[in-house]
Amino acid sequence: MIIVMHSDATEEEVESVVERLQSFGAEVSVSTEDGRTLVNGSIETLLQNEAPWDSFPGVEMVMPVVRGGRRVGREFKSANTAVVVGNAMIGDGELAVIAGPCAVESRDQLIDTARAVASTGATILRGDAFKPRTSPYTFQGLGKAGLEILAEARDLTGLPFVAEVIDPRDVELVSAYADMLRIGTRNMSNHALLKEVGRQPKPVLLKRGRAATVEEWIDAAEYVHSEGNPNIVLVERGIRGFDSSARNTLDITAVPVAQGITHLPVMVDPSHAAGRKDLVAALARAAVAVGADGVMIDVHPNPETALVDGAQALLPQEFASLMVDLNAIKAVIPE
Ligand code: PEP
Ligand code: MN
Repeated sequence: MIIVMHSDATEEEVESVVERLQSFGAEVSVSTEDGRTLVNGSIETLLQNEAPWDSFPGVEMVMPVVRGGRRVGREFKSANTAVVVGNAMIGDGELAVIAGPCAVESRDQLIDTARAVASTGATILRGDAFKPRTSPYTFQGLGKAGLEILAEARDLTGLPFVAEVIDPRDVELVSAYADMLRIGTRNMSNHALLKEVGRQPKPVLLKRGRAATVEEWIDAAEYVHSEGNPNIVLVERGIRGFDSSARNTLDITAVPVAQGITHLPVMVDPSHAAGRKDLVAALARAAVAVGADGVMIDVHPNPETALVDGAQALLPQEFASLMVDLNAIKAVIPE
């Protein structure tokens, strides 16, 4: 439950609301947003019935918050959050562009791709050292050696990088190398992993579970935040529907819906949504037009030899021409 105080409420008025909430055993936090004091009597939604809160002096409005209120929700912070990733930003109004191969396969493959995307508009490099594969008998990633190659690519190009972490026991290792940790679609509801990335200092890229509602996705972000890490970026990457004509169904609606509920940045991954390179450019353009804070795009110098997700990877020159279109669309859509 959030109690919004009048902009001219006195300290005593705020204090009296806080004391009353505490007398019911609520955990209380006080914050200031847009010049207003917000008193958050969190967790216990039943508190709402315990006193006539809106008759307290200085109170403007009482907002019942379903599920006890979320720190990642707009009810807690109305202004957008911008997340710092190394020397890049996501959510600052500019288009963030994460690009690179699905997985690090070799030094040459990763460094060639990093150089190409750095010179054509990527702001953050992607490439995984740990891959969550459908079959345990396929390529699982290079592990620590892959992280070392990513760090070398960062030194050579200046691009910070994001890499997936799939096991709570690897969080410390990935966090020691990467500028941002990614939680993949299969792990969106892995609370142990969400809490572990919430306890380390690097920002977190949280993909939407392929069968998760927008609310469940935002609840997952709250798990990360609840452990002390507020630097979270959401990624819509397609959900499973009834139609199998593409790998997944890109839920474009989810972008403005999520942006309305949370102050966190929301990006789109058209590559994993499509699963086919011929659809990637169209979905990326739609993502920018709908107001996503950025896109995340698979790029590979030789997609036909890729060990993972070659069918959806753009060639570097295709990525370069897509960037021209995305910048043109970004320039004409309202802020
Ligand atoms: C990926 O980005 O390589 C990936 C595995 O994504 P997702 O978790 O969305 O399938
Ligand atoms: Mn992939």
